[in-house]
Amino acid sequence: MLNSIRWRITVTYFSLFLLTILLLSGVLSKVLENYFINNLTVSLTKEAIIAQQFIEGSYPANQQGLDALVKELGATISTRITIIDHTGRVISDSDEIALIMDNHLDRPEFIQALDGKIGSSTRFSTTINTTMTYVALPLTHKNEVVGAVRLSIPTDQIHSTLREINTILLFTFLLAILIFVILSLRLSSIISKPLEEVTRSATRIALGDLKHRIFTLAQGEIGQLEQAINFMAEKQQEKIAEIDDKKSKLEAVLSHMTSGIIVVNHKGSITLINHAAQALLGVKAHKVLDKSFQAVLRHGDILTDLNQVLQQGKVVTRDIYIENPTAKSLQLVMAPIYHDKVIWEGVLVLTDVTAIKELEKMRSQFVANVSHELRTPLTSIKGFVETLQSGMVTDQNTRERFLTIIASETERLSRLIEDILDLSKIEANKNKPQLDTILLDTIIDDTIHQLKDQADKAGLVISTSSSFDNIKVLATYDGLKQVLLNLLQNAINYTSPNGTIEVSVKEEPSHYIVAVKDTGVGIPAEDLPRVFERFYRADKARSREKGGTGLGLSIVKHLIESFGGSIWAESLEGKGSTFYFALRKPEDNC
Ligand code: ADP
Repeated sequence: MLNSIRWRITVTYFSLFLLTILLLSGVLSKVLENYFINNLTVSLTKEAIIAQQFIEGSYPANQQGLDALVKELGATISTRITIIDHTGRVISDSDEIALIMDNHLDRPEFIQALDGKIGSSTRFSTTINTTMTYVALPLTHKNEVVGAVRLSIPTDQIHSTLREINTILLFTFLLAILIFVILSLRLSSIISKPLEEVTRSATRIALGDLKHRIFTLAQGEIGQLEQAINFMAEKQQEKIAEIDDKKSKLEAVLSHMTSGIIVVNHKGSITLINHAAQALLGVKAHKVLDKSFQAVLRHGDILTDLNQVLQQGKVVTRDIYIENPTAKSLQLVMAPIYHDKVIWEGVLVLTDVTAIKELEKMRSQFVANVSHELRTPLTSIKGFVETLQSGMVTDQNTRERFLTIIASETERLSRLIEDILDLSKIEANKNKPQLDTILLDTIIDDTIHQLKDQADKAGLVISTSSSFDNIKVLATYDGLKQVLLNLLQNAINYTSPNGTIEVSVKEEPSHYIVAVKDTGVGIPAEDLPRVFERFYRADKARSREKGGTGLGLSIVKHLIESFGGSIWAESLEGKGSTFYFALRKPEDNC
C-alpha cells in the first residue's frame, strides 16, 4: 500500500506543497514584519522630526521645562521620548526617570544620530521587556550636535497584527492543504488507476491467461504500455499455440511410430519413453520415468555407448538381443541432443529387427537349401554322363536306363528351377496381386480333367463331393489353378492305388473353405506344422521318387495368402490327409 504509485504520488505532491507553503508563509511573514516596521519607522521618523524641532526651538531649557515638554509631547503622540546629551547621558525621558537610566551612548540609533544622521533600530528592550522600534535624530544648537532625541514605540502591536495575519494564513493554508490532499488523491488515482489496471492485467497474462487483453482506453505512455502488453500477450499466445502444435505433432509421431524412443538426461535418467519403447521393453512409462536407464535395459556395452554419446557427442549404433518380455533382436541408435551447443540429453532409437534377422537367416538357409537341391540332381547327372562317356557301359539296356535317369533328373532340375522362380515371383507380387472373381466349378473341373491321366495311372479317382455351381471366390485364375494342381498332385503322389481323392466346398459368411481330401499315407503329427516350409518333406523317399521339389506347398501357401486367404492341413498317419484353404467371397457376393 505504502509502495503504491497512488500513495507515492500523493506523498510527493503533498511534501512539495507543504514545503512551498512553509517557505511562502515564512517569507510572507518576514516581508509583512519588515513592511510594518518600515512603516512604523517612517511615521516615527516624522514624529521625531516634529519632536526635534520642538526641542531645538526651546533649547537650552532648564531640566524641569525640558521634562515637561518631553512628557507633554510624549503623551500627545503616545510615544516614549528620550533625550541624551552628546556624552550619551539621558537628560530627559517621557516615561522613565532620566537620572537613574544608564548611559545610552552605545545604542545604535543614538550613535547614528550623534553622527548627524537619522538613526533607527528595532530590538528587544530589557528595560521594558518588549521589542521596541527606535528612531533617533540629532539635536543641534548653533550648528553643533549637542545631543539627540529618540522616539521609541513597542512593536507588540505589529507582532500581534502579524500573529493575526499568520493565524488567518494558517487556516487558509490548512484549507488549501485539505483541498490539495483531496485533489492530489484524485489526481494520483487518475494516474494510478490505469497503471493498476495494467499491472492487474499483466499479472493475469503472466499467470497464463494469454487470452486476456487490457482495455483502459488510456492515452499517452500508459496507452502505449497497454498496447505493448497486449501485443506481447498476442505474440506469446501465437508462440504457445505454435509450441503446442509442434508438441502434439511430436507426441502423435512419437506415440504412433513403430520404433521405440527413449530420451536419457546427462545423469542417465529416463525423461521420455514412447509407447513402442514401452512395448518393446515390457515396461510402463510411469514406473521408469526419472529412473536410471539401467533399470530398463541392463547391458554393459550400452552404458559405455551412452557415456560416449553424452560425453563425446558420438552417434553409436549397436545390435542387441534381449529375452524379456519376449526374445527379440533390437537395433539401437544412440545420438546426443544439443541445447545451446552443450550436450543436454541422449536419444535412443530402438528398432525391432527380429523379423529382418529371421528373414536374413531364412534367406541364407534358402540359398543353402537351393544349392543342396540343385547339387543332388546335378551330381547324379554328372556321374551318369561321365560313366557313359568313359565307354565302360557297353550294355544297351544299362545305357538306356542311365539316359532315362539323366532325363528324369534333368526334368526334376528344371521343375526345381521353375518352382524357385514361381516362388520368387509370388513373393515379389505378394502385396499387390490383381484379384478377379473366379468361378470355382470350371476351374476345379479343368484341373481334375488335366490330372485325369496321372490319376488313372496311379489307379486313383478324383471326385467332387459337393456342388460348385455358381460359387465365386476372389483369386487369380492362374494362381488358383496352380494351388489346385499342387494339392491334387500331392494327393495323387502320396496315395496308394485304389485310394480316393475328394474335393469339396463349404460356405462360410464371408468365405468358402475348399477341402482336398485323400486316403493316402498321411503326415506324421510332428511334421504336419512344417509341411508348408520351403524344401520341407515329411516323406523324403517318396517325394524324391515322385520327383517332388519340396516347394509345392510353400508355393500354395504364398498364393493363398496373396489372395487374402489361409491354408491348413489335417492328417492321420496311414489314414490320409485333408488340405483346407479359405478364400474370400467377392464383395457383392457376401
Ligand atoms: P514335395 O514336392 O515334396 O511334394 P510339397 O511342398 O508339395 O513338396 O510337400 C511337402 C511335404 O508334405 C511332402 O514332401 C510330403 O512329405 C508332405 N505331403 C504333401 N502333401 C501330402 C499328402 N497329400 N499326403 C501326405 N503327405 C503329403
